Amino acid sequence: MSLYELTAHQLHNLLISKQISACEILSETINRIEQVEPGIHGYLCNTFDTGMEQAKKVDEMIAQGQDIHPLAGIPIAVKDNICTKSIPTTCASKILEGFKPPYDATVVEKLKKANMVIIGKTNMDEFAMGSSTENSAFGPTHNPWDLERVPGGSSGGSAAVVASCEATTAIGSDTGGSIRQPASFCGVVGMKPTYGRVSRYGLIAYASSFDQIGSLTRDVTDAALLMKVISGYDPADSTSVKIVVPDYLSCLEKDLKGIKIGVPTEYFAQGIDTEVKSTVLDAINLISKNGALCENISMPHTEYAISCYYILVTSEASSNLARYDGVQYGYRAEHRTQSTEHSLLNMYRKTRSEGFGDEVRRRIMLGTYALSAGYYDAYYLKAQKVRTMIKQDFNKAFEKYDALITPVSPFPAFKIGEKVDDPLQMYLADIYTVTINLAGLPAISIPCGFSKEGLPIGLQIICKAFDEEMLLRIGFAMEKALDRAKK
Ligand code: GLN
Repeated sequence: MSLYELTAHQLHNLLISKQISACEILSETINRIEQVEPGIHGYLCNTFDTGMEQAKKVDEMIAQGQDIHPLAGIPIAVKDNICTKSIPTTCASKILEGFKPPYDATVVEKLKKANMVIIGKTNMDEFAMGSSTENSAFGPTHNPWDLERVPGGSSGGSAAVVASCEATTAIGSDTGGSIRQPASFCGVVGMKPTYGRVSRYGLIAYASSFDQIGSLTRDVTDAALLMKVISGYDPADSTSVKIVVPDYLSCLEKDLKGIKIGVPTEYFAQGIDTEVKSTVLDAINLISKNGALCENISMPHTEYAISCYYILVTSEASSNLARYDGVQYGYRAEHRTQSTEHSLLNMYRKTRSEGFGDEVRRRIMLGTYALSAGYYDAYYLKAQKVRTMIKQDFNKAFEKYDALITPVSPFPAFKIGEKVDDPLQMYLADIYTVTINLAGLPAISIPCGFSKEGLPIGLQIICKAFDEEMLLRIGFAMEKALDRAKK
């Protein structure tokens, strides 16, 4: 096996036993990127030079006999809505083209502290709005399993580069499924932690009460390792929570005896592809054979999730994106006008209509409408109340169950162009993932099989707030059980 195909924990063992060097891992990964990236387009920019310096530093530490972090020297790609000091951070938007943040996001600081090797910034739907990465202003990313298909979104670049071995690990963000859905489309593990577990400082806001940073990796062990690095309280993010970060690795080996799992019937109802349904149900059967107790349950407010989510996120986005005015960051449109009186307004208007893509403008308009004085009660306030009811469905379920298992997406990866002209169809792709962000819960997407066409299918495990340990424990057991079943 080539180095670029291995997991982070496998590479670590080779590094500390001095069989390979961090520079070798990086060089092999760069070669791989040069080979496959023209077909994938997962990256918006690379940081090979600074990456190589970091890799050399790790090699020196090993040579001097120093202990290294379990993720030191491991290549990682970062989604382009996360600020990286002096490195372009565009949110895949023309409006931020050329923007180089003067600081690192807290998560990026933590990756550097662990001596991980950042190799580039990944493509995404503009401002993380989308489910296919087709909304990038810089062209779509292609799914490594079938280049004519989407990798999912909005963290499609991050999922595709891990799946195509162009990075060992990646960071993404998840507002309504943007880590989990691309992970399932690309056959990798995607983890969205509890809201407040990971600092959002330096994550460019889409919908602040939903956004959360998480990981994309080849397996659950790597997810546990990466989650340990990026989690933790940060005074720079007032919504991050002061709570101990457990050693996620040590919980992995515990078995599933006595674990109770709820299977919400609403997530297997109308609209789900039959292969997705049977593959996820087979995996649930498999873990019940391994000692977990699985039962059907009902989550009665699930049907309102998509409408509730899209009212709330567009409202938050319309406010968050007001800052892109052509003055403070990035793009400014050429504007000439006779009257100086209106020229500032014209500049704002022209900058925003030229700088933002269609989907972003659609959402700003939708959100502005939902928040306007005459409609606030009918839309925004009502959606907030529905959000509480969806949260209560989960609270009730977790009185009895340790975890819930559902599909991630109603269908496997679709063709590029198939849904891009039909926003409502695109929004429906998020039906099983948005509820988790509405409730602020942790969830993980694990590959559990393939469709007849050879496309990956993922399942989603959901746990109580801040119970990432349980999530990883069940994820790990599931991964092992599926692996054994394959053999
Ligand atoms: N697809 C969803 C949306 O468009 C989720 C995006 C995300 O999680 N960033 O809003």
